[in-house]
Amino acid sequence: MRPLLHPTLVNGRSGDPALYVETLFEKRAILFDLGDITPLPPRKVQRLDHVFVSHTHIDHFIGFDRLLRLLVGRDKTLALYGPVGFIEQVHHKLQAYRWNLANRYESDLVFVVTEVASSCESRVALFRLRNAFAAEPIGPRAIAEAAICSQPTFRVSAAILEHRTPCLAFAIQEVAHVNVWKPRLDELGLPVGPWLRELKHAVMEGRPAHHLVRVPAGRSFSQPREMPLAALRSVLTVTPGQKIAYVTDVADTAANRTAIISLARNADLLFIEAAFTQADAELAAERSHLTTAAAGTIARDAKVRRVEPFHFSSRYTGQEERMLNEVSAAFAGRRSQHAGSGGEFPSAASSHQNAPNVTRMREDDATAPFSRCREA
Ligand SMILES: [Zn+2]
Ligand SMILES: [Zn+2]
Repeated sequence: MRPLLHPTLVNGRSGDPALYVETLFEKRAILFDLGDITPLPPRKVQRLDHVFVSHTHIDHFIGFDRLLRLLVGRDKTLALYGPVGFIEQVHHKLQAYRWNLANRYESDLVFVVTEVASSCESRVALFRLRNAFAAEPIGPRAIAEAAICSQPTFRVSAAILEHRTPCLAFAIQEVAHVNVWKPRLDELGLPVGPWLRELKHAVMEGRPAHHLVRVPAGRSFSQPREMPLAALRSVLTVTPGQKIAYVTDVADTAANRTAIISLARNADLLFIEAAFTQADAELAAERSHLTTAAAGTIARDAKVRRVEPFHFSSRYTGQEERMLNEVSAAFAGRRSQHAGSGGEFPSAASSHQNAPNVTRMREDDATAPFSRCREA
């Protein structure tokens, strides 16, 4: 199955965090973190419709102004997500400019801002250009079924981590690909038609085996009838969608590790910060960041298929290969060796071309960080 999510680190492994995810559906794009986005051409910025911000340290949020500059004057609704306090911070950013001419714009720019207040609840507010970006609170929303964002084509889950300030880690899960297996349909004497869409939805929504689906008349029977999902299930093939996790700026604590492993489990790709070398573990602890070895070990424990380390500290300029080797060694469960080719890490920009197809089934663990909410 061709992956639909194509991630690129806008500033490579050492610059400001910003992971641009191009989607093959509807030419939409998603961004994780809003560091400097100057390298992104305007058309790519204008394609964004979901932006997820881990926290608002300046290297993760400075790109908001460029985003705003490129969107003003366009008819556009953009969903922004961030940690507690995020609505107020977006408000401050917007109110730093004068909007007395806002009512002259024919189009409206709308920011729908969600802050993850706790693992069970988010708060939402609207900011509209036509309203001079005054805050329009929508109120609290329960976080249902673990997801902070549910779209027909993908779902994003979050975990609240500790970085001396709440910091969000994200996992984007593409919905499963459900296809009709035509030979089986013929075998059962069932017709093609719009009813198959209803059948696909029933499977994607996880309906029970006794759920009834209306089947039109076909070769096997002359009148329409209702059939249980269990009898029709073999008509479809289900391939799990791609899963990409994004984790940055976290202290190496037991609680953080548990939450990250749960969120990222079995991901096809894990983007994870590796700010400091193993030798500078003390410094990493002091700054509430991960080392290369911690990043590799977490990726290993989460059983991800591939790890893409980033957010290397500028103190290691020119030592990218060393950083990659340290992560690689921990991921493989080896002792770190400074020599080596680093060849296990093709650039993130082209990583999707090398990513293997995902055909195996896996448990859906993206819900785990919020499982306590469902019990409450
Ligand atoms: Zn940072
Ligand atoms: Zn930070």
